[in-house]
Amino acid sequence: MTDMQYTLSARQKIDVLTEQAIQRLREHEPSEGYYLAFSGGKDSIVIYDLAVRAGVRFDAHYSQTTVDPPEVQHFIKEHYSHVAWDKPRNSMFKMIVQHRMLPTRLIRYCCSELKEIGGRGRTVITGIRWAESTARQGRAPYEQSRKIKSKWFLHPIIDWSTQDVWDYIRARNLPYCSLYDEGKTRIGCIMCPMQGSKGMLIDAERYPKYYNAYLRAIGKMLDSLRAEGKSSYHGSTPEEVMHWWIHNADYDTQTVQSTLGGNL
Ligand code: SF4
Repeated sequence: MTDMQYTLSARQKIDVLTEQAIQRLREHEPSEGYYLAFSGGKDSIVIYDLAVRAGVRFDAHYSQTTVDPPEVQHFIKEHYSHVAWDKPRNSMFKMIVQHRMLPTRLIRYCCSELKEIGGRGRTVITGIRWAESTARQGRAPYEQSRKIKSKWFLHPIIDWSTQDVWDYIRARNLPYCSLYDEGKTRIGCIMCPMQGSKGMLIDAERYPKYYNAYLRAIGKMLDSLRAEGKSSYHGSTPEEVMHWWIHNADYDTQTVQSTLGGNL
């Protein structure tokens, strides 16, 4: 995990934050129970543990994306057998061809269609935190979805820092995905552009089958664009487009910061 020192004052802070999060969970508990959005990442293992401690009813869901890191899948299967695995209607690769574009840090159509689709008509517990982006600082702990009016969100750890999350995990001795010990700071899809160029390059090397599947999808996307009379898309070969995709991921971070989190 981290080499952070666990101190008494951190423990006291965590106790206060825990009490507040549990109170939020109890206060907004719907009669049918919560829908808990579970990604297998550090924030979701904390909200899962808090929901259990709060004694609220909930069903946890892992939204598969077809580009899920195998380490995350193994972790969930091993430690969270009660989490439901929701299959996507479309694969990431088909979506790339259909959208005629790759997902980018600014246009995350994949998250909207793959990860944020569940929980209609429900109150969804998320692990969203203000510390993740400036845009998220405008989010309320309990709020209605901007896109789907029948959906509400409860973000019980919205005011926690990343340090608080790790302190809680350590205090509760919760198991966590091995990818964190390998240097990942956030867990998402393989080749997710949100992790920046460095993370994408690491993924390309670590998961060559997925890298090649992305290349094939880009090839099909280019074929479709050509059939529509467009000669290129940030390059005219799959390799050129891949190069653009990876290196574009570091582009305009400030704009990304202002849009991240406004997509739910
Ligand atoms: S985590 Fe990244 S790649 Fe996966 S659905 Fe969201 S934006 Fe797309």
